[in-house]
Amino acid sequence: MRITARFLSLLLIVAAAGVSHAQQVETFVPGQTYYGKDKHIEYLAGDLPFILSAPHGGREKPDDIPDRKEGTFAFDIGTQELARAIHAEIFKQTGHYPHVIICRITRRKIDCNREIVEACAGNKEAEVVWHDWHRFIGAAREQVLKSRGRGLYIDLHGHGHKVGQLEMGYLHSAEDYQVADKELNGAQFLAASSLQGLIALNRRPYSELIRGDFALGTLLAERGFPATPSKQRPEPTTPYFRGGYNTSRYGHDGGPIAGLQIETNSRGVRDNDVSRAKFAKGMYESLQIFFEAQFNMPLSPPAAAKSATQTSVAQPCCAVQTQCARRFRCRPRRCR
Ligand SMILES: [Zn+2]
Repeated sequence: MRITARFLSLLLIVAAAGVSHAQQVETFVPGQTYYGKDKHIEYLAGDLPFILSAPHGGREKPDDIPDRKEGTFAFDIGTQELARAIHAEIFKQTGHYPHVIICRITRRKIDCNREIVEACAGNKEAEVVWHDWHRFIGAAREQVLKSRGRGLYIDLHGHGHKVGQLEMGYLHSAEDYQVADKELNGAQFLAASSLQGLIALNRRPYSELIRGDFALGTLLAERGFPATPSKQRPEPTTPYFRGGYNTSRYGHDGGPIAGLQIETNSRGVRDNDVSRAKFAKGMYESLQIFFEAQFNMPLSPPAAAKSATQTSVAQPCCAVQTQCARRFRCRPRRCR
């Protein structure tokens, strides 16, 4: 077969384009599921400005990745299932998908909420999994920034502390919160916070973001899921988880995407299917209000852009928008 010079140069151009754009070529279709190597990391691709990750709810024990000898190995029981329940509820209510990233293997093998050295203990197979985890979160971030310009990231965990409440982690210690709101609004706290993406919008004092009327903890507590910090419980007491590696990487250093960690209690939140479904509903309602109040945009895209599926789903919009209009004077949309 004769290969002409022109054909060869065309091949080279195509090959070069393939290499230089390898990262950009990877596209993810909302509603589809993608996996990393050996299906250890699962990515439910989304189209909403909300990213949810569950790093410690995995059960699988692949033979080719040895158990780690040092670190924390606690299994956050039910958090993988809770993330899936929240995904299902949001789709049911909006016809759109949040981004959900799940680590399916046990924390004994890898800790997807640590930097790579502690996370993988030097094992090369585990390092591939760790990179898959961050590749998918990175892809979700790109989609959020491209479509909406800002958004929210939550790293979902489960604690075993005595007090049954949600621990909302913004990278402050329990002691940090034992100050007046005025002090909490100071530069030192702003600089440390995982809500950089919201602080940059500068719509409300910082203390309102974490324990005001429309803080996520307050909204969840109003729906039957006590949380701290919140308006109801403004000062966490120890033991309290302040937020870890993912919260720092995708919240504090997340650019226009604000982030936090939620450490969930088990009973009534993630202990069975009924609890998880209830919490998922509470989370959806809270997020809907939170986005309007704090980001000044709806969680779901405008009605005209909604999919056909959504038109058949009843929207609890009236209550939420009336509340929003009353407190923030944002323009209420007409409910059908
Ligand atoms: Zn955890």
